[in-house]
Amino acid sequence: MPLIDSFGRTVNYVRLSVTDRCDLRCIYCMAENMTFLPRHEVLSIEEFTSLGQAFVGLGVTKLRITGGEPLVRRGTIELLQNLGQLRGLHELCLTTNGTHLPQYAQAIRDAGVQRINISLDSLNPERFRRLTRFGDLNQVLDGITAAQNAGLKIKLNCVALKHYNADEVPALVQFALDEGLDISFIEEMPLGKINDHGRAAEYVSSDDLRNQLARDYSLFPQENSHSDAGPSRYWRVAGFNSRIGFISPHSHNFCGSCNRVRVTATGRLLLCLGNEHSVDLRTQLRAANYSEAALREAIINSMQHKPEKHFFDLHEEPQIVRFMNMTGG
Ligand code: SAM
Ligand code: SF4
Repeated sequence: MPLIDSFGRTVNYVRLSVTDRCDLRCIYCMAENMTFLPRHEVLSIEEFTSLGQAFVGLGVTKLRITGGEPLVRRGTIELLQNLGQLRGLHELCLTTNGTHLPQYAQAIRDAGVQRINISLDSLNPERFRRLTRFGDLNQVLDGITAAQNAGLKIKLNCVALKHYNADEVPALVQFALDEGLDISFIEEMPLGKINDHGRAAEYVSSDDLRNQLARDYSLFPQENSHSDAGPSRYWRVAGFNSRIGFISPHSHNFCGSCNRVRVTATGRLLLCLGNEHSVDLRTQLRAANYSEAALREAIINSMQHKPEKHFFDLHEEPQIVRFMNMTGG
């Protein structure tokens, strides 16, 4: 029985945020000083496995493990191994900042993951450090190499900020083309109260970025071929295999084709990235008389709370109080 919301959209893609913790502090994602969740509030690997099983039983065909940084959590590889065995799951994906890939890339591939997203906002070490507050670019570049060697298909994710890295978009695209990787540029979303910059001042639209690229590359649009695809709209460059994507929550609303929901590290089912509607699944998971049937019923009932669309206003901060590391990007 598929999950269908009250606007007729089928939900077949779920993102599980396995931790709110991270070894970086990207300026658009987190404030400088963050308080992280006490561990007992975070779902166990067994609980995440049960969730994955319930969702796949309800017709979900794509699961993405994210965070926070999923690879700083002990047990993430075990979770991938568990989920990789679920019958009916077509795609198991991971989103990571890449710093731990030299250690884990092969295990991730062996668990059944075929495609991963790696965040990369700059190829300049100084800038990279500024954007992540203390990150080391070389660690991520080594992570990309490790993932390539393990046979993982990679998409880079870059949050473009007007005065930080928007001028580097052509260089990032050239890197992706040279390495045979896909790349997506994301418009920054107003999630959580950050103290580094004003989000409105850093806004740069996907169309501006694409126009900038069109000076050096001839881009042609590509139809989205996956039935369970994400929110990126893709272009290609003649002669290359890479796809160049744009995720445009402000300039091109993608809610009409939304097929996804998210679960936070504490088991809160978020029905929309840009709204606070949520349903607590941890209570079901931790009930003394736990049953998968009851969990499934809670998930099915939650579909009626999925909002039609997000309304982001960059001039009103913060609109959504939870940070992206809580939300699961
Ligand atoms: N730590 C992993 C990583 O960085 O890829 C996974 C979690 S991170 C929250 C997932 C994605 O969300 C990253 O690509 C990140 O760049 C993006 N992101 C974080 N905060 C964002 C924001 N305020 N607006 C848009 N994208 C954001
Ligand atoms: Fe960490 Fe990812 Fe957020 Fe950066 S975007 S602070 S790497 S969770």
